[in-house]
Amino acid sequence: MSGRSTRAVHAGLPAPADGEPYLPGPTFAAPYHLAGDADPRGYGRYVNPTWSRWEEALSALEGGPALGFASGMAACTAVLQVLGGGGPVVLPDDTYGTVARAASLIGVPVRSAPSDPEALLALAEGARLVWIETPTNPSLTVIDVEAFASAVHAAGALLAVDGTLATPLAQASLGLGADVSVVSDSKAMTGHSDLVLGHVACRSPEHAAAVRGWRDATGAIPGPFEAWLAHRSMATLGVRLERQCANALALARALSEHAAVTGVLYPGLPSHAGHEAAARQMNGLFGPVLAFTLASADAASRFLAACELVTEATSFGGVHSSAERRARWGLEDVPEGFIRFSAGIEDADDLVADVLGALDAL
Ligand code: PLP
Repeated sequence: MSGRSTRAVHAGLPAPADGEPYLPGPTFAAPYHLAGDADPRGYGRYVNPTWSRWEEALSALEGGPALGFASGMAACTAVLQVLGGGGPVVLPDDTYGTVARAASLIGVPVRSAPSDPEALLALAEGARLVWIETPTNPSLTVIDVEAFASAVHAAGALLAVDGTLATPLAQASLGLGADVSVVSDSKAMTGHSDLVLGHVACRSPEHAAAVRGWRDATGAIPGPFEAWLAHRSMATLGVRLERQCANALALARALSEHAAVTGVLYPGLPSHAGHEAAARQMNGLFGPVLAFTLASADAASRFLAACELVTEATSFGGVHSSAERRARWGLEDVPEGFIRFSAGIEDADDLVADVLGALDAL
């Protein structure tokens, strides 16, 4: 099974058996029946067959052993703690902000610079782990993972890539040279805006075993029903993402021509600074998220209120288009009228008409 969508559809399913479902239902268990001294791990914090199938599917997509977590942040925290080696960890200051907060809470010292390879490498000496997010949320900066991984390894550090915006179907971070791929599965990976989950995949089985040891002891495990839903949702990842990315590109092109809009950011646009790297490493899929700027906070709020198909929400990657005025949180250095937009799977014509109609009404 070589194609990524083919893997996403078939991986982790048991061999066909008459009368059995394709994907067996979730197993709910705290302890399992366990007589004698057979298996000291017969307890639901350590093992669950529903996770194991989902993790097998994740591993097939990622190209290395994968572990499910209760959330993207639980996955990020495990990587910082286990592979950060006590720090310092090099962490760009424009990645998803809660990662830096988690590092501070668990006492891992951080060195920060913008998501620029040279600026980050200048901080790498003596660091065990360098972290990047590509594309970044919400500024959509793209880093060339293959080139950066070689430079990080030459500096003697490990590279972790948060590929949440892309998903491993679009961006195979381990195959590009990263040591660790970390993903929030609350976004496009599961795609229905109804799950909070995450996973870590490692190139080395030793790293994966260490991350598993952390999860065993800290208990940041996924629920079996969530893991089952995530596995079920993975089969449609390829078609969801193709439609979402096509819609995002159609919107980015239409927005670029509208007088009320400035600064359209989308890695699929040839004008984007990271377009060439994205074209090389994102499997022809530039992600469901784009961003653009309107004149003011008021213009952005009126735009969001005028859209009929676009839900105002603070997440991305789902099948329903959603958007938000990002500066409402005061977390990132973005203009007041900056909109982060997540393209869903609606018909492109309807979506573009809805967005342009809301802009025309401003
Ligand atoms: N990484 C990125 C890039 C994110 O955008 C998020 C959440 O928005 C996370 C990690 C954390 O994921 P979760 O919300 O599933 O804990």
